[in-house]
Amino acid sequence: MALKLFNTLTRSLQEFAPPAANANKVGMYCCGPTVYDYAHIGNWRTFVFADLVRRTLEFSGLEVRHVMNITDVEDKIIKRVQEQTVSLREFTGRFETAFFADMQTLNCLPPHQTPRATEHIPEIIALIEKLIARGIAYRAGDGSVYFSIEKYRGCGCTYGQLQKLNFDELRVGERVAADDYDKESFADFALWKARVPADGEVFWPSPWGEGRPGWHIECSAMSMKALGETFDLHLGGEDLKFPHHEDEIAQSEGATGKPFVRHWLHAAHLLVEGKKMSKSLGNYFTLRDLLENGFTGREVRFLLLKAHYRETFNFTLDGLHSAKASLARIDECVGKLREVGVQAAACPSDMLKHELQPAGAPPLLVADFSTALADDLNVSAAWAAVFEWVLATNKRLAENTVTAAAASAALADWEKVDAVLGVGAKAAAEIPAEIAALLEARQAARQAKDFKQSDAIRDELKAKAWVIEDTPKGPKLKRI
Ligand code: AMP
Ligand code: ZN
Repeated sequence: MALKLFNTLTRSLQEFAPPAANANKVGMYCCGPTVYDYAHIGNWRTFVFADLVRRTLEFSGLEVRHVMNITDVEDKIIKRVQEQTVSLREFTGRFETAFFADMQTLNCLPPHQTPRATEHIPEIIALIEKLIARGIAYRAGDGSVYFSIEKYRGCGCTYGQLQKLNFDELRVGERVAADDYDKESFADFALWKARVPADGEVFWPSPWGEGRPGWHIECSAMSMKALGETFDLHLGGEDLKFPHHEDEIAQSEGATGKPFVRHWLHAAHLLVEGKKMSKSLGNYFTLRDLLENGFTGREVRFLLLKAHYRETFNFTLDGLHSAKASLARIDECVGKLREVGVQAAACPSDMLKHELQPAGAPPLLVADFSTALADDLNVSAAWAAVFEWVLATNKRLAENTVTAAAASAALADWEKVDAVLGVGAKAAAEIPAEIAALLEARQAARQAKDFKQSDAIRDELKAKAWVIEDTPKGPKLKRI
């Protein structure tokens, strides 16, 4: 089934497929964190969304190269580095490490490449030189370099591809130096910012004098270096459409004369308890805040995956409590299937095939799930498919009509689906109380040198799909 995704560039639902010449390979770039603080739950909505996109593409048979940059130099970072009198690397390193740890807690697949802006200064300078050579960028009196929107449009290029702009408001001949600005105040924007005292030690040499790159040019340079001058997919939160992504397009297309990105995806923002998240309102949460309050990364991931990416999502603590309950339902069902499925190894394969389509079988989980995702990542329909399957499977389990082979096939289906959702980890890692008790009994039997009994318990565990591995640190339980 063809995968359809909304393309911000064309404002329409479009089939997503890489060009035939690229076979199944997809280049995907997601604007990464600005490492000046711990990422908040709004940031995580966007990164979990990027993870969902990547996993969905892989699920549909594409080979994804996922690149996410680290913005480790821009206005906010420099301000904090000066306030705290630490080195740039020391400061950003702390938040970068925390970001990757959080990413793991949320079970996001690590991107294949995570380039840092500060390690791409030569590429950034080369890109600016190209824009100057094409007459689209110019050096200002203070040694900064600006992008000229007028010259760019004069070359027949379009500024305002992602966002409709009112060019009567363009302040011709004026400049914005800030990394972020609103669309009512658009003007020529900074590519290279000449060194000022407030930058402290954060500067690099360049053909235009000492200074540092603007934020937008960093992403153009890193994405094109990693994925080529034209690539398939670029993602970010909706606030990045303007100016950041619009400027990325202008810089890249201005320098290469080629289309920059084929498909743009933007995730809507997250609100907390109905309000814009802000420290002063007391509704600002980092992932760490939620973990300290007793929630798990898995519960947060589940909740962030509940809403459609183009809808504003209202994050609530009640929502997190119901995420806990929903996950428990999945865990219970999958746990029981594992217990029943353990006998499957003994079944001949033709019996297994037969058991996949018994009368009154549960809904076709994988088929329904993939149809839902192919429809612009319709997660509501995808979760509905999961919970209908849980309900039907539980019913059959309660009736005792699930054979080992059918349980095994159902588990295989669940694993395919969970390769996209990424919420099933606990079901796999958790050791049920009954299993833990058997392990204890086996240890007691061994200490009493009752090897017959300890072997019997080992067999019983095996029958329940657990093996004991005796390690120098003691026995460990593993699922078969
Ligand atoms: P930043 O670290 O500020 O550069 O942001 C990292 C990502 O988080 C960007 O893609 C932003 O668009 C996104 N983002 C920031 N705030 C929110 C929010 N409240 N909801 C969803 N995404 C957000
Ligand atoms: Zn970016």
